[in-house]
Amino acid sequence: MSIGFRIDATSKQVRAGRLHTAHGEIETPVFMPVGTAATVKGVSQDILEDLGVQILLGNTYHLYLRPGVETVRRLGGLHGFMAWPRAILTDSGGFQVFSLNELRKVSEEGVTFRSHLDGSSHFFSPESSMAAQIGLGADIIMAFDECTEYPADRARTKASMELTLRWAERSKRYFEEHKGEVPWSFQELVPSTQYPEKSTASAQGIARASDRVLGTGYSAQSLFGIVQGGMDLELRKESALRTVEIGFPGYAIGGLSVGEPRECTREMIEATLEHLPADKPRYVMGVGTPEEIALYAALGVDMMDCVLPTRAARHGLLFTSEGKISIKQARYAQDAGPLDPKCGCRVCQRYSRAYLRHLYASNEVLAQVLNTLHNLSFYLDTMRRVRHSIRLGEVPYSF
Ligand SMILES: [Zn+2]
Repeated sequence: MSIGFRIDATSKQVRAGRLHTAHGEIETPVFMPVGTAATVKGVSQDILEDLGVQILLGNTYHLYLRPGVETVRRLGGLHGFMAWPRAILTDSGGFQVFSLNELRKVSEEGVTFRSHLDGSSHFFSPESSMAAQIGLGADIIMAFDECTEYPADRARTKASMELTLRWAERSKRYFEEHKGEVPWSFQELVPSTQYPEKSTASAQGIARASDRVLGTGYSAQSLFGIVQGGMDLELRKESALRTVEIGFPGYAIGGLSVGEPRECTREMIEATLEHLPADKPRYVMGVGTPEEIALYAALGVDMMDCVLPTRAARHGLLFTSEGKISIKQARYAQDAGPLDPKCGCRVCQRYSRAYLRHLYASNEVLAQVLNTLHNLSFYLDTMRRVRHSIRLGEVPYSF
């Protein structure tokens, strides 16, 4: 069995539930921190565990270029390589190819692109993206799609949506034929709080996960489909219905946060959710601010990811219960108070705004570490509160 999803509480369209994977349980709605290159920049894995992170996101594009899929696969997949025993999701690489490469060339077969590291030429297809994601070994992997640019006219949006649908079928076909090649070792899959043994994967060769009887009952990767359709409500509906027809254990809404107004993002999410099966996890990719993730959870979204808390932290932008703070401002130079008096994180419990401002102004490495820790805690706490209110039967957002 690849993945389990159980909804324990609902209130109108909102739901709180649990996703079961071979690498543990995830309480939903969940915010997934982004660990682009097998690291959440500035935060070590033991601290991520302490913060209560149950699932991390890795970027196939970056990991494919460096250190390379084969290296990660030989070291036990991402779980073994980065010593992260909990769940992981990888994207297909498609979004980075589209956002980082001006010289990309899209054909029916796939996308030719140049590495942003050294300019070398590479090719991603639905099949090669699946092969890369199977080699990386995340618990949840994503179909290879084309993220439609914004703005785009209807003909272009429709053609792009059709291409994504054909690629979804090819992704599924390749995945079904190769999913047993996931590089997990037996020891890693036994539920445990211990770090996985790094040597077992190479000692045992590629694990045939499907042959295993495991304590968790969830022994394989899951492939999620992605809905596109630009900012066109009819195309979103068509993309959702036809992606569901192909059939996946979970569905993502892609192609958002590409420059459209926020009201439009919300409208697209609401309209798409209507056409996705209620008993499957629903994932909105690449959104948003703390208010937005609470809002989208209230619309019935189960999973979200965003680079915003970690990227903003590195630029000294901090999310607090009193709004956004730019810690570089001189007004904090003498401020002995905590960053956010309502935040229980280890940064707010220990350090003053003045100290955080000093670290940032002095370009100290610790500034990035502490700012990231706070922002991540703030996002994770936001989702914890959202889940709590859903379980109490409340709608966790005032519309
Ligand atoms: Zn804090």
